[in-house]
Amino acid sequence: KSFDSLGLAEPILRAVKEKGYTTPSPIQAKVIPPILKGKDVLAAAQTGTGKTAGFTLPSLHLLAKRTGGRRHIRTLVLTPTRELAAQVQDNIEAYSKHLDLQSCVVFGGVGMRPQINQLKRGVDILVATPGRLIDLCDQGVCDLSKVEMLVLDEADRMLDMGFIQPIRKIVSKIPSKRQNLLFSATFSKEIRALTKEFLKNPVSVEV
Ligand code: AMP
Repeated sequence: KSFDSLGLAEPILRAVKEKGYTTPSPIQAKVIPPILKGKDVLAAAQTGTGKTAGFTLPSLHLLAKRTGGRRHIRTLVLTPTRELAAQVQDNIEAYSKHLDLQSCVVFGGVGMRPQINQLKRGVDILVATPGRLIDLCDQGVCDLSKVEMLVLDEADRMLDMGFIQPIRKIVSKIPSKRQNLLFSATFSKEIRALTKEFLKNPVSVEV
């Protein structure tokens, strides 16, 4: 199976090819079709499986379909650590290089001012760690009211790090009608509870 058969827009396929990938990884082959159909997806996937492209490519496809008007945050990716947030952002930049989409990453431990300036310039995709995102929302510089897709990446690690309340607070700021993707290395009782709380009739995917 090739990337071409998945129905992704040409500028995305071009960026994938420029990265040197020819074949979707197993997790990508399984998650991309239901995400493109607008379904919620629960995916068991470790780092190294290609999970990042698994949610980034279809998310970019859905974002690229609609254009015009002022930019607003339409895809929100939450990650447990700043390292992962930065990695996800690097991936998004690479895969969106032929699209007119702006992405931005925010995390704690660094100054807020540059992040605020970036947000003010207009962003379609935001990658964030939960604590800093809440700080930015509290400052009134981050509008989540038009988010269409929520991605919880490494959700098990976010729970381990005690982010359940911050996640709840963030989700309360985004529309209830949205697409949800949850990626986790493990399927614990806690992850099942999180899935029940935030996802609607999810398609489950394991590799
Ligand atoms: P991830 O699991 O998202 O951290 O990705 C692991 C590594 O696999 C990263 O270095 C990606 O650039 C790479 N990768 C992702 N998708 C593919 C693919 N379809 N073919 C080859 N490498 C890939």
